[in-house]
Amino acid sequence: MSVPPSGSAPLSGFIDLHSHTDESDGTLTPRQLVALANQIGLDALAITDHDTFAGYEKARAAAHAGPLDLVCGIELNSRFYIAHDGDYRSVHLLAYFPAGGPPLAFNQWLWKAQEDRRIRNHRLVDALRGQGIDITLEEVEARGRSLTGRPHFARLLLEKGYAASYQDAFERYIGEGAPTFVERPSETTEQTIHIVRSAHGIPVLAHPIRLSLSLEAEREAIVRLKRAGLLGLEVYHSEHTPEMQAHYQALADELDLLPTGGSDFHGRLKPDVSLGTGWNGNIRVPRTLLDNMREHLARV
Ligand code: AMP
Ligand code: ZN
Ligand code: FE
Ligand code: FE
Repeated sequence: MSVPPSGSAPLSGFIDLHSHTDESDGTLTPRQLVALANQIGLDALAITDHDTFAGYEKARAAAHAGPLDLVCGIELNSRFYIAHDGDYRSVHLLAYFPAGGPPLAFNQWLWKAQEDRRIRNHRLVDALRGQGIDITLEEVEARGRSLTGRPHFARLLLEKGYAASYQDAFERYIGEGAPTFVERPSETTEQTIHIVRSAHGIPVLAHPIRLSLSLEAEREAIVRLKRAGLLGLEVYHSEHTPEMQAHYQALADELDLLPTGGSDFHGRLKPDVSLGTGWNGNIRVPRTLLDNMREHLARV
């Protein structure tokens, strides 16, 4: 691991609160991610894999001896009702446990979600095999490790020549609307916020730009989530232009939400996004945001 000489670390004073390892859909191992964070000189790194703490747990051992402040986090999918659509949309929530790991009750909820996912995967394999597609659960799980999901189905269908592209696999077989689509049970965004708060975590709305709502509807949605217990808003994100970052910072100030931020680093899966600095250097997340999160927890 190459560590820059002290005093010259380019990202000293900065943090990244949104990153993925190969325990979900990132491509770096937890150890490699910690080494990279140390190399670029980040003060703190949150690992926020989808639906699993396995990457964070492994990273702890790697971060133990170094200067990096490793933060426990997770990214959770939820269903959010949009009156304008008359339907639910998928919304990502980040949950942070910056005082340490989550309590047992939260892990138990997570294990149940992982079990639901495994049942869905099983049914999805059955549905695909029913259509004459020769795949097994073992083959899919070999690609997905602790978090096998539809992206791994898509890769396998592509490898085996059943789909012309990753996107084609979703359209023809596993995406919503495809004949062999199998739904996975998920909580509403409000319920998920409640579960995180009950576990003394900090629920944060991830990449709010992806709500894709008008300014007015967006504000209304975030107010609704704040009433449900939301504590933070992801202001800095690779998909947010500087103008959007200013907009979300103003919204966080107005609604008294903790501003957070991170690159949403996925390694080679999103090669244009760099740890700590985002897309074309569009983010710098100051360390004070993490201090504010910890102060908030100490107050409640
Ligand atoms: P899962 O949690 O196993 O149901 O998989 C959900 C993931 O599949 C999402 O996070 C996306 O990365 C991916 N995904 C879902 N729908 C699509 C789609 N229509 N096209 C491409 N990727 C998709
Ligand atoms: Zn991801
Ligand atoms: Fe996300
Ligand atoms: Fe993410």
